[in-house]
Amino acid sequence: MLVRNWRATSTESKGSMKSSGKTRARTDLMSRIGNTPLVEIKKVFNSPVTRIFGKCEWFNPGGSVKDRAAARMVLQAEKEALLRPGKTILDATSGNTGIALAMIGALRGYAVELAMPENATPERKQILASYGAVMNLTNPLEGADGAIQRARELAASDPDKYYYADQYSNPSNWKAHYYSTAREIHRQLDGEITHFVAGIGTSGTFVGTTRGLKELDPSIQVVSFMPSTPLHGLEGLKHLPTAMVPAIYDPNLADMELEVDTEEAYTMARRLALEEGLFVGPSAAAAVIAAIELAGNIPGGNIVTVFPDGGLKYVSEDFWAG
Ligand code: PMP
Repeated sequence: MLVRNWRATSTESKGSMKSSGKTRARTDLMSRIGNTPLVEIKKVFNSPVTRIFGKCEWFNPGGSVKDRAAARMVLQAEKEALLRPGKTILDATSGNTGIALAMIGALRGYAVELAMPENATPERKQILASYGAVMNLTNPLEGADGAIQRARELAASDPDKYYYADQYSNPSNWKAHYYSTAREIHRQLDGEITHFVAGIGTSGTFVGTTRGLKELDPSIQVVSFMPSTPLHGLEGLKHLPTAMVPAIYDPNLADMELEVDTEEAYTMARRLALEEGLFVGPSAAAAVIAAIELAGNIPGGNIVTVFPDGGLKYVSEDFWAG
């Protein structure tokens, strides 16, 4: 039997957090998800008419943007009694959602099982193992889609055992951004945002933040980007024309779509560390490239993008050397 974390059981939802007292609410790790800093790019891009800002998602306790989606998926599943003590949280993940679910599972007393491509970096595997997650490693050549296939098979093989979070189809994924990321960005810039740029993985970040921002200010233009080739090194992102399209993806949202080259993103990752003090992952570097390309196509404005994670999980990769 699984023993639930006493602290977690006493802070099930926002409502009970309030009634259980302010101190406990502040000391619960889950309450530290979101409200990440927004920083301005100063050197790799500088223009008298356009500013570029990035949301530093590695400030989340699990180290990435996926803490937001994972937390909402878990809390919502508990609310709907799809997730109960003794059940195992299952999902397919290239890394960050797995880390977020593994952290939250450890915190709230659930076992966590993940299907992921075997070529995930050693750092990722070590982090997941440290949180106690079980890894089902899939064929690297099948990429994220192979992991999705395996997760579906596992979920179907034992529906009573698993709560299959299914981040690619779960509306809590995009809603996390609709309720948090969009509002934070709008507030942090006092509404002075003209454009939003995000890469597509599950598309939760782009879809949810876009819907939230457009509701707050319909004049905000939104731009999605993806890797320029099917085999790419932009961890966390999908080349949609050749991948399984996530069910939560909405092709009608983007005002403009861009493509980013892996090598250019690697170069940008090195520059961001050296020139801006921003040690970020490849998808964050790609976001800066997309934002700069957008800047070249508009008369001016305040562009906001998301830096999904930091560089630490990629230290074993060769691209830092150039
Ligand atoms: N970058 C990284 C490093 C990620 O882990 C993810 C999540 N897959 C993304 C970008 C894309 O985010 P989303 O799934 O919300 O589209």
